Amino acid sequence: MSSTARTRVIVVGGGAWGLPAALQLQDRGCAVTLLERFEPSGPYASNGGSSRLWRLADTQVWRSRAMLGTLEAMERLGDRLGSPVFRRTGLVWRDDLSLPATAEALDSIGQRYDRVAAESVGDVFPGLRPDGRDALFVEQGGVVLADRLLRGALEAFIARGGDYRPHTRVVRIAPGAESARVELADGSSLVGDQVLLAAGPGTAELLPGLDLALPLKPYIEQVVYLGDPAAAPPAPDLPGLVDCPIGDAPGIYAMSNGELGYKVGLDHPLRPLAGGTLGEDLDRTPDPERTEAIRARVARDLTAIAPRVLGAQVCTWTDSGDGDFTIGRVHPAVVLACGDSGEGFKYAAFMGEYLADLVAGGSGDPEFQEHWDPRRFGARTAPREHFDSIGRH
Ligand SMILES: Cc1cc2nc3c(=O)[nH]c(=O)nc-3n(C[C@H](O)[C@H](O)[C@H](O)COP(=O)(O)OP(=O)(O)OC[C@H]3O[C@@H](n4cnc5c(N)ncnc54)[C@H](O)[C@@H]3O)c2cc1C
Repeated sequence: MSSTARTRVIVVGGGAWGLPAALQLQDRGCAVTLLERFEPSGPYASNGGSSRLWRLADTQVWRSRAMLGTLEAMERLGDRLGSPVFRRTGLVWRDDLSLPATAEALDSIGQRYDRVAAESVGDVFPGLRPDGRDALFVEQGGVVLADRLLRGALEAFIARGGDYRPHTRVVRIAPGAESARVELADGSSLVGDQVLLAAGPGTAELLPGLDLALPLKPYIEQVVYLGDPAAAPPAPDLPGLVDCPIGDAPGIYAMSNGELGYKVGLDHPLRPLAGGTLGEDLDRTPDPERTEAIRARVARDLTAIAPRVLGAQVCTWTDSGDGDFTIGRVHPAVVLACGDSGEGFKYAAFMGEYLADLVAGGSGDPEFQEHWDPRRFGARTAPREHFDSIGRH
């Protein structure tokens, strides 16, 4: 595909992956139509809210290498949008089981970190209750400015001449040899030379048209914002935190979030989406019991933050079947990108470039594609019952 030929590309889903990819493709000279069932940053899919955690720390070297790529891509996207899309706050990774592998992975990508003894965790994360486990403090970690990234990418896409169609639900993608037809809920259809399917939790319902079955399983999960409402900001500007599970107790992930308070999530979904897809399961009401469980955890473990609940938010994430993304060309005219496994937002800027390359006929990074290729599942198409916890894949 030549970028000067005004190839018609249809991007299905204006979320964390589809929207930056739409911008990148438009920038490369394609004529891009972006179809979004709701609107970016809305509550129903996976991209709502103002922040997400980014990190380079992981237990696997190839993932740390991919995450290093996300940092470079976020820098480029910030330059393109004229405003940074992430903030460095540093990140504390506390665990017993995963600490050696995480340190090794950081070593292998040449990133520095400090080892923090169990009793000294409060030196790098004021108020963190020591629990006997050592930690790493990694300077290269912080917050993706999620809503700013999406808003900026959308504005740039429209300014560049992109065709943005919110409140447009795709119901079927019918691929042909040289193009694909995208059918909409209002009965109309569009034809693209290339289609990028990036519908997050809404992917599974579009797979039958592609004659595909994949073990996707979308869940909903909740985060809570905490702090002192009388203070400005309500919580101190603390580093990000990955506090891995201990036994059966789920881990937490947490990050600074400015005026909204410190944001904390329990690494455990509320429930799977009904029918295994976004469909009509749109109830995103926070669960008071989960709110209280997170508040109590903050009161116990994060003592520099006032344990007052300032807000709660529910959104979706999609287990891929093995915890790795599902990305690749599935028809001559269709590229698929889904199964974010709850950690996809930090990849938003990276996916913009990576998916645009795939749509243009590229084959992707061989090491990443070993883990991301949709064909890796073979005949294993039933979703798995369990999912990977933070630090445990
Ligand atoms: C509670 C929680 C905390 C998280 N924390 C982090 C974190 O700290 N760090 C991190 O990196 N990631 C985090 N994530 C995960 C991250 O938000 C997702 O990985 C990311 O948003 C996935 O991007 P996506 O483009 O695949 O899906 P989405 O962002 O959901 O985008 C898909 C889009 O497609 C649209 N769509 C769906 N169906 C259709 C259709 N039929 N027609 C048209 N459009 C359609 C949707 O409306 C949506 O806008 C978290 C997720 C949750 C739920």
